[in-house]
Amino acid sequence: MSGIDTLPPLREVIQTHGLSARKSLGQNFLLDLNLTAKIARNVADLPNSDVLEIGPGPGGLTRGLLAEGARKVLAIEKDTRCMPALAEIAAAYPGRLEAINGDALEVDPLAHLTPPIQIAANLPYNVGTELLVRWLTPRDWPPFWQSLTLMFQKEVAERIIAAPGSKAYGRLALLAQWRADARIVMHLPPEAFSPPPKVHSAVVHLTALPEPRFEADAAILSRIVAAAFNQRRKMLRAALKGQAPDIQDRLLAAGIAPTERAEQVSLEQFCALAREIAKP
Ligand code: SAM
Repeated sequence: MSGIDTLPPLREVIQTHGLSARKSLGQNFLLDLNLTAKIARNVADLPNSDVLEIGPGPGGLTRGLLAEGARKVLAIEKDTRCMPALAEIAAAYPGRLEAINGDALEVDPLAHLTPPIQIAANLPYNVGTELLVRWLTPRDWPPFWQSLTLMFQKEVAERIIAAPGSKAYGRLALLAQWRADARIVMHLPPEAFSPPPKVHSAVVHLTALPEPRFEADAAILSRIVAAAFNQRRKMLRAALKGQAPDIQDRLLAAGIAPTERAEQVSLEQFCALAREIAKP
C-alpha cells in the first residue's frame, strides 16, 4: 500500500517491472505519491474532466491524478516497458485509465477524450517545449484543452512566465502569454526525482483564455517571434529582414522602432506586427 491508493509503492513497481531509468527517454521518475497527488491538485476541475497525461512512466503522476478524482486519464507513453505497470493501475481504477504505447508527438489523443480536457505531464524538456508550442499555436482558439499542468526544468518554466526586458523573455513567454494565463505553482529540487537530474524543476500551470489577448494569426506570430529571438541581439530590421521586403515600414506601422531589439518589444507590439505582416 502506498498511502494514496492500494497499489504497491513506486520503488516496488519499478523493481517488479525492471524500469531502470533510461537517459535517452529523459526518464527521471517521481516516486513520492504524496508529491504527485499535490501536483494533481493543481489540475483544474479534475472530477469533471478527462486528463491527457504525456509520459506517465511507472505511473506516479497518473496515480496522483486518479486518486485526486480525475474522471478519466488518457496516458501516452513511449517506453513499452512501462505498459504492464500502467495496466495494473488501470485494473485498480476500472474504466478510468486508458494507456497508449506511442510517441506523444505522433498520437492524436482527441479520439479518446471527452471535453472538458485538461493536460498534465512531467516530460523531457525538449518534447515538453515542442508539445507546449503545438498546444499554444493551433490556428483556431479556444483549443481542445482548458488547462496545462506541466513540469519543466526551472529555467524553461521561467522562460514561460518571463516579462519583456528580462533575459528569459522570448518565444515561449510570448506564445504562452498571448493565449493563456501562465504561472509557476510549485518548485521541486533534484532530489524529488529518481535519478535526480542536474537541474531544479518547476510546475507551470497555464489556463487557456477564451480569446487571445490581441488579434494575430498564430502561424505568422509564431514565425516572426522565432525569427526575432533567433538573433535576439540584432536590431529587428535585421533580424526580421527575411519576413517582408519592406520590413522597416511594417515595423513602423506596428509602432515598433526598426532599431529596437526583440527583448524590448511587448506582446501587443508583436501582435500588431503580425497583423501588419499579414497585409498583402
Ligand atoms: N510521469 C512520470 C513521473 O513523473 O515519474 C515519468 C516522467 S519522465 C521525466 C518522462 C516520461 O516521458 C518517461 O516515462 C519517458 O519514457 C516518457 N517519454 C519520453 N518521450 C516521450 C514521447 N515522445 N512520447 C511519450 N512519452 C515520452
